Amino acid sequence: MTRNTETLLFIDGQWRAGTGGRVIPVINPATGRQIGTVAHAAREDLDAALAAAERGFRIWKDTAAFERGKLMRRAASLLRERADDIAVLMTLENGKPLAQSKVEIAGAADVIDWFAGEGQRSYGQVIPSRAPDVLQFTVKGPVGPVAAFTPWNFPLNQVVRKLSAALAAGCSIIVKAPEETPASPSELIRVFQDAGVPAGVVNLVYGIPAEISEYLIPHPVIRKISFTGSTPVGKQLAALAGLHMKRATMELGGHAPVIVAGDADLDLAVSQIAMHKFRNAGQVCVSPTRFLVHDDLHAAFTEKFTDYAAKLKVGDGMDPATEMGPLSNERRVPALEALINDAVEKGARLTTGGRRIGNEGWFFEPTVLADAPLSARIMNEEPFGPVAVINRFSTIDEAIAEANRLPFGLASYAYTSDTATATRLGNEIEAGMLTINHLGLALPETPFGGMKDSGYGTEGGSEAIEAYLETRFVTRKG
Ligand code: NAD
Repeated sequence: MTRNTETLLFIDGQWRAGTGGRVIPVINPATGRQIGTVAHAAREDLDAALAAAERGFRIWKDTAAFERGKLMRRAASLLRERADDIAVLMTLENGKPLAQSKVEIAGAADVIDWFAGEGQRSYGQVIPSRAPDVLQFTVKGPVGPVAAFTPWNFPLNQVVRKLSAALAAGCSIIVKAPEETPASPSELIRVFQDAGVPAGVVNLVYGIPAEISEYLIPHPVIRKISFTGSTPVGKQLAALAGLHMKRATMELGGHAPVIVAGDADLDLAVSQIAMHKFRNAGQVCVSPTRFLVHDDLHAAFTEKFTDYAAKLKVGDGMDPATEMGPLSNERRVPALEALINDAVEKGARLTTGGRRIGNEGWFFEPTVLADAPLSARIMNEEPFGPVAVINRFSTIDEAIAEANRLPFGLASYAYTSDTATATRLGNEIEAGMLTINHLGLALPETPFGGMKDSGYGTEGGSEAIEAYLETRFVTRKG
């Protein structure tokens, strides 16, 4: 499919080119060829976005939560109506199979609906006082204009969680969406415009990520930062936010363990988790990565998992038969090759895959490594690609120790038929999320976030909106 999409900035209710007309090329990862451009925001554009967000905040915070919810639900319906067209934009820029793009958009609409409801239920408390003539209560209000930074792996989903929570709370927002996959998030912003959200409340910019974050985070207009991306970048941005006393939510890298106990249902485990591993070509912060399988099941699990991986149909996401698309960025190809080669040199067994496919686009074989030593880089660094490492354990103590060994703590997975083991894992695994015997993560109504180096704050569930609210206390006598 040929196309040339010119994605623009959205500032103060207007779609516009960047000052000076600079653009960044957008590449289809299935072909390696340019399919469009995205406008590059200059400093003047960021200043315009900041001024708009400041004005938009004054309008939006005084718009009743009930009215905000109505506009948001209208945006969700528009998104559902336009899902098929937006899915094509997403697949052409990100590479994921079209069916996965559609699921992401449907999920984004659900996120908007969820937060539209939550915004109407965010209110303070009356606190019983010590004296009969004193009334003491808390009031919740929006924290102020938000700066949100989102990555390319889920072009819509990463934006919609931040945008919906901010809007539901009454905040205005400047979204710095991914330059690699700009068209689908711009269509997300458009549904809010078309739903009637006032000018200045939602603003969208693209450009050089570091230049934009270094300017927006310290800026006095911005009161809240939300970032999704790698741990090293997240630490830098959190430090900058801290220096300027800005609230921050950090959704960073992971290295998810999967514990398959000796009493697990092997077929259930393989069928669920292998499919989950290769979703979005493994470029997922909650992607299962370190498989820890009990000695009794290790050989059978590895064989079945390898069989699944070897049969996956890798191709252009626009082909309905494709089960796994290309990597989204050229830079991930050498990064994965280096991790895999290092593991094999250190003694891991490559049971399938391991190489780039062809020389057009950035396709990579679904890859399985077994028995990798802990010294291998892949046991310590997030691969962010279609690579699974299947190691073994003898006792559940060993499995828990290995699961908790790394500084990451985002998602974790387990399969066991023993309730005592499940309870122990629930108490002892150091991760923001644990799902046992099914895939149950990332619903709008449940918490989504990490601990340790995977960041702080949650982007789902009733806690998520709190990050965009201030609680003020008022006490009155008489
Ligand atoms: P990267 O660290 O260069 O960039 C990750 C994301 O952060 C990108 O969207 C990028 O535009 C943005 N970014 C980078 N520097 C920034 C800055 N100074 N200010 C604001 N934004 C900035 O890595 P990459 O090559 O794009 O992706 C690979 C790594 O990124 C992975 O290993 C993974 O850890 C991480 N990542 C995580 C997620 C996630 O969902 N948590 C998503 C994408 C990438």
